[in-house]
Amino acid sequence: MIKVEVYDAGHGIDTLGKCSPDGSLREYKKARELVKDIVALRRAQGVDARILVPEETDISLAERCRRVNAICDKYGKDNVILISVHCNAAGADGKWKSAGGWCVYTSPGQTKADTLATDIWNAANVSLKPYIDRFPLLKAQGAYDKRQVPIRADWSDGDPDYEARFYILMHTKCAAVLTESLFQDNKADVDFLLSKEGHAAVVDLHVKGVETYVKRLSK
Ligand SMILES: [Zn+2]
Repeated sequence: MIKVEVYDAGHGIDTLGKCSPDGSLREYKKARELVKDIVALRRAQGVDARILVPEETDISLAERCRRVNAICDKYGKDNVILISVHCNAAGADGKWKSAGGWCVYTSPGQTKADTLATDIWNAANVSLKPYIDRFPLLKAQGAYDKRQVPIRADWSDGDPDYEARFYILMHTKCAAVLTESLFQDNKADVDFLLSKEGHAAVVDLHVKGVETYVKRLSK
């Protein structure tokens, strides 16, 4: 049974280059706003949801993992989950790009994190409906290149999450996933993320996805 949900907001105020080309969206700030709202909603549902990095500054990945693992040691690693909230980027040259969409990552191999990721992925397909509905028109207008889809999936191992050896996924003891909620260097994605509707949709997919996972485990 999950006793503690830990939410990590990617990066800090000092991280260079993690922003939209026009500076309107900064990943550390958007991720913190998303985490703050996700945690508030989960707490309102009676859950022990925690913000891993209350600081604005860049806390090292080693320190982030140390904090998560201290919670795992206290409550049991099977009773803790970690969700790291990010926005994606197609480049680092400060130019607008044509990649877009939402996706979720786990570490390689089949673990409990794969089930959590699938639950969040399924929720994304529902919560991001306004984004999904608008995608084809924006694509036709050139906002996205022809390979792009609104909800990205890697089905090569039988589930929709991507797998990567991200530090925070590899060095935490509990089930851990990392979400990439749209691209900070795609203008249409940034417009959606900065809209009230878009922000709420991204918050909602995390809340609903985690809720589904936690409820199933508690049965
Ligand atoms: Zn990031």
